[in-house]
Amino acid sequence: MPELPEVETVCRQLNEVIAGAQIKEVRILDAKLGPAPEVEGRGVVSVARCGKSIGIKLDDNRTMRIHLRMTGRLFWQDDAESAYTPDYSRLTIISTAGRLDCLDPRRFATLRMEDEASVSALPPDPLEDFNATRLRKVAGSRKISVKSFLMDQRFISGIGNIYACEILHDAGIDPSEKVADLSSAQWRQIAKATTPILRKAIACRGTTVSDWRDLFGRPGEYQQFLKVYAREDSLCPRCHSKVKRVKQGGRGTYYCPSCQKGLKNIKRSKINNEAGKNIPHRRQKGINRAATTICRHDPGCRKNIDWSKAGTSGGERITRR
Ligand SMILES: [Zn+2]
Repeated sequence: MPELPEVETVCRQLNEVIAGAQIKEVRILDAKLGPAPEVEGRGVVSVARCGKSIGIKLDDNRTMRIHLRMTGRLFWQDDAESAYTPDYSRLTIISTAGRLDCLDPRRFATLRMEDEASVSALPPDPLEDFNATRLRKVAGSRKISVKSFLMDQRFISGIGNIYACEILHDAGIDPSEKVADLSSAQWRQIAKATTPILRKAIACRGTTVSDWRDLFGRPGEYQQFLKVYAREDSLCPRCHSKVKRVKQGGRGTYYCPSCQKGLKNIKRSKINNEAGKNIPHRRQKGINRAATTICRHDPGCRKNIDWSKAGTSGGERITRR
């Protein structure tokens, strides 16, 4: 699914070629998209991303909003009269600058017209005004995992599975950690990791691990910088442990179990270490449970007994069966 860097890439590329042009015709090739919008003769002012959607702003203050969803992408041809219709094209926009097709094998992409009044308040966008305080406020005391939180478009715009995995790896946070349990420092780590990762992915024109292509049909290049996503069993570049894949909310989550330890694991090992100070060495290791030393006077007593002095200090060695 195209995420923020892929959609931003397409918006910037489309803005370059179509801003200032006039729309001549809109052809709907798949009735599921609804009727063709009445935009013939309108000028294109600009193209900008909003979350994961593409907004083509017209000179009458309306916006054609295209959401690529799962498998949608846009394809540009400079020749407005081109007779080439790419496979799976569902929508063609002919302008004075060229021909734009929206291809979508799985037919989930959507098109709708929006006027200025219908634009609603937006969640934080990772490329604008994005910081730990704002994130923590949005998260509140929700009991959802931090990965689900990052991917939920009601809370943050534009992040999907690929970049959520990469951001959490960079921040060193277990993807299953609940947002309510995250510390201020962890929120700062997330905010600090997010924008640079997304900006670099934009500079690489997105990530192509399967079918993503930019406006001109070229694959992205960020896949060569992925640290964990789609890298199961390869070595984590930070600690050289094996990257693991688990299912989380129906999606594959890639992470390094060694440098993305959850609070639960950290707490458990801390408790064990602290408790371990009072546990005899043999019991800490979980060995020799059959032959153990008990207090002669009180078999329920579990006092620490020094083996070297057993037999002289009131302890005796027995064998439990
Ligand atoms: Zn690691």
